Amino acid sequence: MRIETFEYLRPATLKEACDILAERSGAACILAGGTDLIPRLKQQLVRPSCLLDTTDMAEYRYVRSDAAGLAIGAGTTLQHLTSSETVRQQAPILAEAAGRVASRQIRNVATLGGNLCLQTRCWFYNQSRAWKRAKPDCYKAGGEICYVVNKPGQCYAVFQGDTAPALLALNARVKLLSARGERTLAIDQLYSGNGRDPFTIAPDELLVEVMIPHLPDGSAAAYGKFSHRKAVDFPLAGVAVWLAVDDAQGKGRGARLALTGVGPAPFRVPAAEALLAGPETDAAAIRGAAAAAARAAQPVKNLHHGPPALRRKMVGIMSRRAIEDAGNKSRMK
Ligand SMILES: Cc1cc2nc3c(=O)[nH]c(=O)nc-3n(C[C@H](O)[C@H](O)[C@H](O)COP(=O)(O)OP(=O)(O)OC[C@H]3O[C@@H](n4cnc5c(N)ncnc54)[C@H](O)[C@@H]3O)c2cc1C
Repeated sequence: MRIETFEYLRPATLKEACDILAERSGAACILAGGTDLIPRLKQQLVRPSCLLDTTDMAEYRYVRSDAAGLAIGAGTTLQHLTSSETVRQQAPILAEAAGRVASRQIRNVATLGGNLCLQTRCWFYNQSRAWKRAKPDCYKAGGEICYVVNKPGQCYAVFQGDTAPALLALNARVKLLSARGERTLAIDQLYSGNGRDPFTIAPDELLVEVMIPHLPDGSAAAYGKFSHRKAVDFPLAGVAVWLAVDDAQGKGRGARLALTGVGPAPFRVPAAEALLAGPETDAAAIRGAAAAAARAAQPVKNLHHGPPALRRKMVGIMSRRAIEDAGNKSRMK
């Protein structure tokens, strides 16, 4: 096996990190907890000439709450999110989704930024070079053909992060920083929808903060995850729902429903949201919304476990459960 060499840099501040990213013009790769990146380095799926380790950048690890809402530094660990009283009170679905990632050992080092920027995955892509030697590289790895569909020109790798759908349901925004300045985006704009190149982040940019607005009184959210094992496993499908129900009138006042694990990006399902925010959030509306979510899912044969039909079916089942769960929590408030 060829030994890869690369420069290893460990900036202490965000400014230093941005300067390095600007100087290396796309050749530097950000290393946060490393729980996604290091396996990919070992499999030689990524061969950066420079690794920028964020471990010493204490200034991007925080949870702050003010009148605008919650601001969370991208370097905050997932374990911190699951145990933070502030997050548990103001964005319990985020604490719940973070707590469903992998295992406690992984969550102790894995960061929110790394989870949102998790590379898309595929049975044909996330393999060692030895495993892949039998065939030319797949489309995501730089070849011609996507082996999921045996066709050229499009990548069918899937986004399997757990926290992104929760943040879509919470209407979060993200802040990106570079030596050129900063910009904020609605979280869905972070994702391109292209499995091969799934993020809209420029090579010199760093994701630094996630901002979550305060939720209106009486609203609540829930997350459902379908995975092969109960722990240490990626979602084969995941559903996050946020609901604001006016119980006195039985009317939905607002709804957001987002999916993960069933497409190249996490995404919202407007058809389901329209039914839940409609004049009556009754059993028929819930069934309709769950069916709309299942229809919107795009599972294909890109994962070892979880046949596409089962993943689609589970999206429907989990959507119904998550809607009911969020509705019950909302009424209890
Ligand atoms: C056994 C196992 C089980 C797992 N199970 C799950 C699971 O159930 N759910 C799940 O969601 N994930 C799972 N993962 C994947 C991974 O552990 C998590 O997604 C984790 O949150 C990644 O965070 P990290 O800080 O370790 O990221 P890293 O590995 O350091 O980085 C991940 C990617 O994000 C980029 N990146 C990191 N920080 C930034 C930033 N601030 N700005 C821009 N780009 C950045 C990196 O360059 C890299 O491409 C699992 C991994 C393993 C090994």
